[in-house]
Amino acid sequence: MTGRRIAVYPGSFDPIHNGHLDIIERCQPLFDQVIVAVLFNDEKQPLFTVDERVELIAEMTSSYSECRVESFSGLLVDYMDEVGASIIVRGLRAVTDFEYEFQMALMNRRLNRRIETVFMAPCEEYSYLSSRLAKEVFFLGGDLRGLVPARVLESMDAKRADRG
Ligand code: ADP
Repeated sequence: MTGRRIAVYPGSFDPIHNGHLDIIERCQPLFDQVIVAVLFNDEKQPLFTVDERVELIAEMTSSYSECRVESFSGLLVDYMDEVGASIIVRGLRAVTDFEYEFQMALMNRRLNRRIETVFMAPCEEYSYLSSRLAKEVFFLGGDLRGLVPARVLESMDAKRADRG
């Protein structure tokens, strides 16, 4: 299906929060299909397994008919070739995100000239939110309602209970 604008929104999503969901929603009118791609990353000690994250994101995005959720490992540009995508979507929260994101965008373009990165500004309400901060606040007993979907908070509760 040539000519379809297929965008990939890559990240760790450990776990998905409202800042991510805001970006996914903003992508809907812009692209023909959005693939949320969960990265296998050996270096991090994740809260959720990649499969659990994929499942949670799929539940949270089930109302979007042209959104699918997958996992990938290795080079993003190789994965994009596999799925026929040419656009990378990234959220830019603050200037602090910029340097790393700019480097990644240029490296990805160097690796594959066909690929463009699109940066999206989040809703101000979530502009300070990260999965890392959400986990930190959660394990200290803070209230994350309105920042992380209730369904995800339930799964975080279950993880905490498992850990004892
Ligand atoms: P984090 O762990 O920092 O929340 P991820 O690695 O899962 O983020 O990020 C995936 C993508 O989502 C990145 O492009 C990141 O900039 C973007 N993102 C993360 N948090 C937000 C937010 N609060 N608002 C908008 N975009 C965000």
